[in-house]
This record gives sequence, C-alpha cells and structure tokens, in this order.
Amino acid sequence: MPRPIEAIIHVQALTHNLAQARNAAPDAKVWAVIKANAYGHGIENSYPGLRAADGFALLDLDEAQLLRKLGWRGPILLLEGAFESRDLELCSRLKLWHAVHCEQQIDWLAMHKTHEPHRVFLKLNSGMNRLGFTPQAFRAAWTRLNALPQVDEISLMTHFSDADGLRFGADGIAHQLASFEAAAADLPGERSLSNSAATLRYRLRSDWVRAGVMVYGSAPDYPGNDPAHWDLRPAMTLRSRVIGMQNLQPGDSVGYGSSFCASQAMRIGIVACGYADGYPRHAGSGTPVLVNGQRTTTVGRVSMDMLVVDLTDMPQAGLGSEVTLWGCGPKGAILPIDAVAQAAGTISYELMCALAKRVPVTVENRA
Ligand SMILES: *Cc1c(COP(=O)(O)O)cnc(C)c1O
Repeated sequence: MPRPIEAIIHVQALTHNLAQARNAAPDAKVWAVIKANAYGHGIENSYPGLRAADGFALLDLDEAQLLRKLGWRGPILLLEGAFESRDLELCSRLKLWHAVHCEQQIDWLAMHKTHEPHRVFLKLNSGMNRLGFTPQAFRAAWTRLNALPQVDEISLMTHFSDADGLRFGADGIAHQLASFEAAAADLPGERSLSNSAATLRYRLRSDWVRAGVMVYGSAPDYPGNDPAHWDLRPAMTLRSRVIGMQNLQPGDSVGYGSSFCASQAMRIGIVACGYADGYPRHAGSGTPVLVNGQRTTTVGRVSMDMLVVDLTDMPQAGLGSEVTLWGCGPKGAILPIDAVAQAAGTISYELMCALAKRVPVTVENRA
C-alpha cells in the first residue's frame, strides 16, 4: 500500500470561485491567473474548472504552450512579457498577449518580424517597484509602442502592493490608483488593475481583473476575512491518515528537539505527512488540523515524513483515522489553508505552490 497521503483538486470549487470573481466584477472580464502550475494545483487539473474564464494569465512560456495544447483558443496573457527576444516568435505563433514593462521589451518588438501584430499590456510601476515603467516614462513608452507595426492593440495595466490592506499606516491602494489614473488619463485602451484582493475589497471599474488566489479558495485578506466570508471554497485538500499512536505521561516530549513537553497525560496520533510533502515545517505546536472532520491541533515539530496530532479529547480516533491538513474534511468540515499558513508564518500561496511532487493528486469533479 502506498503512503496514505493524497491531494484532491476540487474542480467544482474552481468553477464556483471563478464565478465569485465575476460577481465581484460584473462589468469586467476575468483572467484566471494560473502561473506556478496553477498555484500548485496543476494546469491540466485546473483547466476543466476554469474554462469559463475570459482568459488565462501566467508567465511561463511552457505553461502557455500547455494551455494551447489543452485546447484553449482564447486570450492568454504573459504577465511578465518576453524574457528574451525570441519569446516573441512564440507569442506570434500562439497568439499570446504579453506585458511590456521595460524599454528592452519594446526594442525586441521593434526588431521582431511578424505578420501578426501583437496585443500588449503596457505596465505601469505605480509604486510596487517591481516591474513597469515609471509614471514619467509611461506615456513615451505608449507612444513608442503605438508607432510600431508589430503592435496591434495597447492595453494598460498595473499591480497593487497593498490591496490586501493588512499594512498599518498606509493608504492601501489609493496612492497607486492615483498614480495609474494620472499616468493613463487620456490614453486609450483596456485597463487591468485588480488582483484577487483588490477585486473583492475595492471593486474598481476596469476591463479585466486578474483573479489568482481567490480562484483556489483562499481569502486574500485573511485573517481579516476568511474564505467563507467571500463565499470561496477550497480547491485543494491535503489529507492523510494516522499511522501510529502514543500515550504520553506528564513530562514526556514529542519529536525532534523535544520542543513540545506534555504537561498532562495525552494521546497523540502520528500522521503520514511532513515537510517533504509540502507541509510547512514552521507550523509549530497548535497548528489547526482536522481528524475525522473534527478540529484539533498539531504537537511538536513537523518532521520530513510525519507530524503529530493531539487526540486526547478524541477517544474514537486512532490508527487509520482520516486527517485533513487543509481543505475539505469529512462531513462538510473545512479547514482553510489560510489558517495553516498563518500558523506557519506564511501565506496560503506558498503552501499551495509547495505541494510536493511525491504527493499523489486526484482530481475530483463532485462539488
Ligand atoms: C500573481 C498575480 C496576480 C494574481 O494575484 P492574486 O493575489 O493571486 O489574485 C495578479 N496580477 C499579477 C501581475 C500577478 O503577478
């Protein structure tokens, strides 16, 4: 028998969550963001649940190719644009729309030989200071692009650093929005501004929203709001089973470093899931977990292949009991991945993307 750990991808949840993005931005078209192998869910696994998107946004050219192979003929946006000049050949061939965020990408376009003029998304650096033209350079970049025969349509985009609104003492997205509005003021073209957090929280008018993490069922502003608040459902479940049991006396310790020490008699279960499966090693004692759909907590350090759960108040639980590390448990129980991420001092994105190759993945079509 293989190790009892597995990941389930819930196709219907993807469809449901995508519809929530649409509800939040009824006048906009929706990019389903599927970079990083659909945030660890697998592009092939996720595509059937996301077909109702108006387009797919990603950044790896291999992923764009895969999506075309799967039969998607609609828009695909390369969020970071070309990484080298010959990437533009693939853009022409596969009709990929691409971001343009620096002068060099315009140089490449100017030298690119094509009969298929490209649709580009000119990116403004409105304050994130990652990719994009400064407000001062934005208009000149637009003018340069507009003069190129290789360019068909120019759309305008920017990306918010603080749409989740968890930073103190900041004005959220206001300064970035003002910067975009000033730089883009009288330029024509479609606009794309919002990620998941901005889509749900600010409801700005735009032509395209870019829905990433919400599509996978995580609340971008957790713990301010949880996924249920936004009516989002987990698209990924990580589950395993109890493969060993121990009874502890007061003073007994658990795991590497003996970081946990029992202050009373306890029953603990050993679960076949560790950091080599993608479970975060930094999730300390007390991280929430479901056993047979009932909430309890982890105990001691997470090791490579195992972690430990407290079963003291669960006399029915024992060898073989089902353990939900995140996602959907039995009897409708849900453990948001956000709660596990928070306990590990990280965000859901990192956990989703880190699901390890050795974990078998099942795609489930039922709701
Ligand atoms: C990843 C990404 C998104 C999606 O962000 P979420 O927070 O997952 O919704 C949107 N836009 C850009 C440019 C991105 O890189």
